[in-house]
Amino acid sequence: MSNRKIGIDLGGTKIEIAVLDERNHTVLRRRIATPAGDYDAIVSAIAGLVREAESQLGPADGIGIGTPGMASVETGLMKNANSTALIGKALQRDVEERLQRSVRMTNDANCFALSESVDGAGAGAHTVFAVILGTGVGGGIAIGGRILEGPNRIAGEWGHNPLPWPRERETPGPACYCGKHGCIETFLSGPALAREYRAASGSAAEPAEIASRAVQGDAVALACMETYEDRVARALATVINILDPDAIVLGGGVSNIGRLYERLPAILPAYVFSDSVRTRIIRAAHGDSSGVRGAAMLA
Ligand SMILES: [Zn+2]
Repeated sequence: MSNRKIGIDLGGTKIEIAVLDERNHTVLRRRIATPAGDYDAIVSAIAGLVREAESQLGPADGIGIGTPGMASVETGLMKNANSTALIGKALQRDVEERLQRSVRMTNDANCFALSESVDGAGAGAHTVFAVILGTGVGGGIAIGGRILEGPNRIAGEWGHNPLPWPRERETPGPACYCGKHGCIETFLSGPALAREYRAASGSAAEPAEIASRAVQGDAVALACMETYEDRVARALATVINILDPDAIVLGGGVSNIGRLYERLPAILPAYVFSDSVRTRIIRAAHGDSSGVRGAAMLA
């Protein structure tokens, strides 16, 4: 036993590999560009990264892969992936055939939840709801240091629930790629925040810049941030009412906005069905590395 495990984070633009030792320290890390749109090349690239890592460090005990989307429980074929080359493909089977060994696979939000709950921002918290506020909005649940997957493997996928307590101007809400309107993702993703600000101000800015303009006294930016924070609070309140997690860890590009960690605890009590809200709202500790670390921890 080497006590080393390999994690692969398969993304739309890059594939990352990390090898963790028995203390979850990273002993090797490498990223390459995803051969976009070419499924066979993606499988080959994953196998190539594993072989290269093991030729340097010796055989690992296990391999975990984090993917966009999930494999269908019914068919084993990939679904819900924003990397469309994967949709309908038996990714796990194909990688296993190529490597001649078994691998563990789950979606990237679950990997993020696992990494943050084992030794990240949620370490010590029994139940962690991990939220990605990025290009898309995803979520995963870790309980006692293990991923909660569920029979449909969608536990934590709150991004395609409707935004709760919608205001008049929020209904029916923007069209979503999933076929519905007004999904949480269409209000809380980074592009959604940028779209709101552009519509209100006529000026294009990334989420971090909008937050910084709000601090500098830009009234439109401040109003956009306040609306955004109220929406995040509404969306999280429904999760707290059902799951009551000890900690909610925020990741993804928008999670770098510092004021969220002051404002959300102040707004949440208006929506959570409790006289006090003790849920900790914390920023992810491992940033971009969470996906690949959590994938290794699957192994
Ligand atoms: Zn949707």
